[in-house]
Amino acid sequence: MEEKNLTAEIEEKEAVSKNFIEIEIEKDLAEGVYDHVQTRFPPEPNGYLHIGHAKSILLNYGLACKYHGKFNLRFDDTNPTKEKTEFVESIIADVKWLGADFEDRLFFASDYFEQMYECAVKLIKKGKAFVCDLSAEEIKAYRGDFTTPGKESPYRNRSVEENLKLFTEMREGKYQDGEKVLRAKIDMASPNINMRDPVIYRVAHMSHHNTGDKWCIYPMYDFAHPIEDAIEHITHSICTLEFEDHRPLYDWVVRECEFENPPRQIEFAKLYLTNVVTGKRYIKKLVEDGIVDGWDDPRLVSIAALRRRGYTPESIRMFVDMVGVAKANSSVDYAMLEYCIREDLKLKRSRMMAVLDPVKLIIDNYPEGQMEELEIPNNLENESLGSRMVPFGRELYIEREDFMENPPKKYFRLFPGNEVRLFGAYFVTCTGVDKDEEGKITAIHCTYDPETKSGSGFTGRKVKGTIHWVAAAAAKEVECRLYENIVDEEKGKLNEDGSLNLNPNSLTVLPQCYVEPALFEAKPYDSFQFMRNGYFCVDCKDSTPEKPVFNRIVSLKSSFKLPK
Ligand code: ATP
Ligand code: MG
Repeated sequence: MEEKNLTAEIEEKEAVSKNFIEIEIEKDLAEGVYDHVQTRFPPEPNGYLHIGHAKSILLNYGLACKYHGKFNLRFDDTNPTKEKTEFVESIIADVKWLGADFEDRLFFASDYFEQMYECAVKLIKKGKAFVCDLSAEEIKAYRGDFTTPGKESPYRNRSVEENLKLFTEMREGKYQDGEKVLRAKIDMASPNINMRDPVIYRVAHMSHHNTGDKWCIYPMYDFAHPIEDAIEHITHSICTLEFEDHRPLYDWVVRECEFENPPRQIEFAKLYLTNVVTGKRYIKKLVEDGIVDGWDDPRLVSIAALRRRGYTPESIRMFVDMVGVAKANSSVDYAMLEYCIREDLKLKRSRMMAVLDPVKLIIDNYPEGQMEELEIPNNLENESLGSRMVPFGRELYIEREDFMENPPKKYFRLFPGNEVRLFGAYFVTCTGVDKDEEGKITAIHCTYDPETKSGSGFTGRKVKGTIHWVAAAAAKEVECRLYENIVDEEKGKLNEDGSLNLNPNSLTVLPQCYVEPALFEAKPYDSFQFMRNGYFCVDCKDSTPEKPVFNRIVSLKSSFKLPK
């Protein structure tokens, strides 16, 4: 009895940890509906991929892996108006970068145009499709709405022969754009508007990025997509919720086109993030208005932007796993994405010293002209990252905020008379400051205690503050860029006039920061922790060996709490 309960409990737990798509797939496998699993990611090459697409890619790829199936990358390139080769290339690069390995399973829907045409002919022959001469406006008016049933087209009862002849002529280019369409003959009184004789082919005299001028008729999405899935033997066609109402049409198409063992569509909720802009329309405007410097501006959440900012594929996979798969739309806190990149980089990256807001610290009792090399561990939490040699000398740069002339209580950093530890080096005691005519501090003076060298075993006294530093004579000047959310969500994402409520502080450029020599060789996309300042990544566009540019990926702390 006891044992049975335990088994039941384990089974229950497993069921809970499975998402609803997995439950459906396992049911299909158990019932023999399918004997394998095959998924796909079907982007339209009309823009760059974003974090929402990453979710779809990783979900589909993950399911294929979990059930030892296959995963296809298929371009849904059936609409020549908006598609470009540039986008095809960027999408392939992004999918690969995310780690969704499609091997040689790269397909283009446009390669199936001939088969789609044959499917349309089949429907005509079965009396399930007809050529219609109504204009787009008329078709719309005839369609009705939720409360009014549609009105049948006067061309609905053309003979099969006439339809075949007209459809052939459509293909041959005899008609102008919009003059004729092919429509499925389903049910103008259906409560589902998608089933009211939807248009499945239209005339468009337009060059296609793949097929050139071979075709002047193009299939509509709702007709093309199920056929693409069926041709590729997709089993589970996973898409987002807005297609739920289209599912009856999806099923109608694969059934009437007589595909064996047709795919089934399952919908899940889109991923939305707070404090960022995901809509293509808004991003395009930000790019055009010069507010961001392209689709990969580090403040955006396109995959290219996240990569440029310094996000790793691992961090995005962790994020997508944490978000899970839902049936209802909701927004996820951007801070959760930040949590994931921090977690991913914590033990993987070296912790270097970089001073973002520099002021000189002069050690008056350190011999002039002398330099020494100190061995500093790269990551105190991960010994396997080893150590590096860091030059130390009489003049250092430290952060301006690490000194206060009149400190409040509990300020443990530098102030006159106070002793602090220079990380990996010595204890120093502040003796005074130099100021310019306006009273601005130009240098801080201190003395050091040679006995306190880090690693010397010195245990004489304790200090409460530790600060980071960079030796002035060996430092390199770099630019650092700090980011905040691009829109001010607190005050509402949109202004009254519908424009984006932009955060004026979304980008802060610090043109004169100093870094230690270990960072001189950093290449684009290399990332590091800058001690106490956050994680930074070498910018792939603007960084040069002469003047490196670092993007702050994320600060070290956050108020974000993991959901329980
Ligand atoms: P957008 O309008 O944001 O560019 P889209 O749906 O037009 O998105 P497609 O290229 O047509 O982009 O989509 C490819 C796949 O990605 C589709 O299966 C779509 O459902 C999925 N997808 C798009 N946006 C999201 C999102 N925010 N969350 C999860 N999946 C998404
Ligand atoms: Mg789309």
